[in-house]
Amino acid sequence: MNVLVLKNVGSLEQNPLPLELAELPQPIPAPGQLLLRVSACGVCHTELDEIEGRTPPLRLPIVLGHQVVGTVQDSEADAGGFREGDRVGVAWIYSACGTCEFCVAGNENLCREFKATGRDANGGYAEFMTVPAAYAYRIPDSFSDAEAAPLLCAGAIGYRSLKLAGLKDGQNLGLTGFGASAHLVLKTARYLYPRSKIFVFARSVLEQDFARELGASWAGTTSAESPEPCHCIIDTTPAWTPIVDGLKNLERGGRLVINAIRKEDADKDSLLRVDYPAHLWMEKEIKSVANVARSDVSEFLELAARIPIRPAVEEFRLDQANQALSEIKARKVRGAKVLRIR
Ligand SMILES: [Zn+2]
Ligand SMILES: [Zn+2]
Repeated sequence: MNVLVLKNVGSLEQNPLPLELAELPQPIPAPGQLLLRVSACGVCHTELDEIEGRTPPLRLPIVLGHQVVGTVQDSEADAGGFREGDRVGVAWIYSACGTCEFCVAGNENLCREFKATGRDANGGYAEFMTVPAAYAYRIPDSFSDAEAAPLLCAGAIGYRSLKLAGLKDGQNLGLTGFGASAHLVLKTARYLYPRSKIFVFARSVLEQDFARELGASWAGTTSAESPEPCHCIIDTTPAWTPIVDGLKNLERGGRLVINAIRKEDADKDSLLRVDYPAHLWMEKEIKSVANVARSDVSEFLELAARIPIRPAVEEFRLDQANQALSEIKARKVRGAKVLRIR
């Protein structure tokens, strides 16, 4: 089968073509696993974190990709009731231990044995992949393969951030950064919190316009002052400056949720600007989001079908993945990038 592999970890500036086309034998599902024929796989900023070594794969070469939509080709006995031909999705969570305190409480995203799709196991930048049936999700019929892909990471983790933000209807929500995840959060928040105002902080005028088109009450630069304080802010940028600027816009008792697996070091100095009374006092909170639990993915797929959310997607061929990744690095993002594999 055709796959794209990552053989070496390093910066995209040094190696702008980190993924190489290769031929691998078709994987064989172990007991309890499904063999999927991949139709589409979303491209995520986390792939850059893997490629550039901020969350490096444990072994190389590896097949990246963790927003996978495919059809079941073969299922072993005890494969969760899935049948050949079923359309399923795979998300960032590939497996967890199932027995620790976090797994038992449904927070398997915090499991110490958490394994990630496309980092700790081969993912969806390939014609076929295997996945434990317990970590596969039925895709609602209303979505095309390409539309469903970004719901599995950008959407599901955005939904988890929104849950952790603890917003109440009518309270103001701020979004810093406006890529794939934030545009899905905006659509979800408008449905769940119809009386809330949404303020978007984004670097480019293009992103600010896009946010207003989708119903943001206001959009400005990442350093701008919001028209009113935000009760919750969700940050989806890879940088630190938006956190410092965001804290200033946070309402008393408000919470800033960082939805990022890793932050880049380039502007880390801006943390020295943190002024306790202006940025943190008055019971302001900062919380991070880690990975996703299965309930986030299944609840969000169902919610997205009900709203309904139609993610704006931009399609690429498998052999154009390097281009898609460079565009994410350059923040040329309007919606979500998806590889069409068949
Ligand atoms: Zn992702
Ligand atoms: Zn566990």
